[in-house]
Amino acid sequence: MLTGGAWVFYFADAPVLLHDLIFFHAPSVAYFTIAILTATTYVFGGLMREQVCTYMCPWPRIQAAMLDENSLVVTYNDWRGEPRSRHAKKAAATGQSVGDCVDCNACVAVCPMGIDIRDGLQLECITCALCIDACDGVMDKLGRDKGLIGYSTLFDYSTNMAIATNENTAPIDPARVRDPDGRYYDKIRHFNWRIIFRPRIILYTVLWSLIGVGLVTALMMRDRLQMDVLHDRNPQYVMESDGSIRNGYTVKILNMVPEPRMVMLSLRDMPGATMSIAGETWSQGRFIGVELEPDTVKTMKIYVTMPKDALPSETRDFTFHVEYRTSGEADAYTASFIVPEKRK
Ligand code: SF4
Ligand code: SF4
Repeated sequence: MLTGGAWVFYFADAPVLLHDLIFFHAPSVAYFTIAILTATTYVFGGLMREQVCTYMCPWPRIQAAMLDENSLVVTYNDWRGEPRSRHAKKAAATGQSVGDCVDCNACVAVCPMGIDIRDGLQLECITCALCIDACDGVMDKLGRDKGLIGYSTLFDYSTNMAIATNENTAPIDPARVRDPDGRYYDKIRHFNWRIIFRPRIILYTVLWSLIGVGLVTALMMRDRLQMDVLHDRNPQYVMESDGSIRNGYTVKILNMVPEPRMVMLSLRDMPGATMSIAGETWSQGRFIGVELEPDTVKTMKIYVTMPKDALPSETRDFTFHVEYRTSGEADAYTASFIVPEKRK
């Protein structure tokens, strides 16, 4: 319900809407939207859960396309873990060579996706690293090196696997990766920070940074005062008793700052014309001051009137101009003034 509420509050005055919701004064669309979002959140998060990640989320596909052999991925290092055994000491006593995995299943138990990372890299893996922590805890208790499950590259993994399997000609033998004292041989590859600074990573970083800078720049430079104008369709013009022609427009002015502003609406490129706000007789002339509420769209019906002796011979374009003089922000909209056909 909080998820649904957060979405709805984002598009409205949150405290007012919350009050209205509690006292059942809110519009029915608000209740409907919250109900829909609550239901979908419950279905996705409560019932479908990891199925959403596996079957609906596009990210695993995108991520898979970006991986290469030097990408760090959560990896079960079977070159040191296999053959797994729950009875390592017993096996060692009988001269059997066993790996570090004690088959405790802790990594499987903690996995939110319900997969066994020991089966290899899988599409379902969300790289949460819970299996790494679980296995490191087990290794700690057993007094063995951490990292049986850890971040590794395909290149390092393949190299180590080739060593453990004698170039893929034999089953994994831990004796090929460690000396009798339990130390890794020098040829075993380990994580190296330098692989992070590869051309591909640098290129991705630069591209994403450029996109980020572009977005922030666009955000900072976006218009915070905007105007939209719609000419009346019916009637397109009205002839007054004195022969002057009047056109009607719906003018919307967007104030995208959280404070009230007084802006100046004016007519340009239309000598002789005057305008007025419908229902407000005081507002007549080529300049009209308009009071805007914070973060709102002001919608007005504006009449533009051209006296008989200044009428153009044909329909012509002119400009509505709106300006906030304190900051210099302005916007303009080119509209058409329609005159009767017979004058053309
Ligand atoms: S990283 Fe997370 S999702 Fe992936 S296998 Fe490990 S626990 Fe499961
Ligand atoms: S947590 Fe580690 S030791 Fe336990 S089963 Fe998983 S990989 Fe093997």
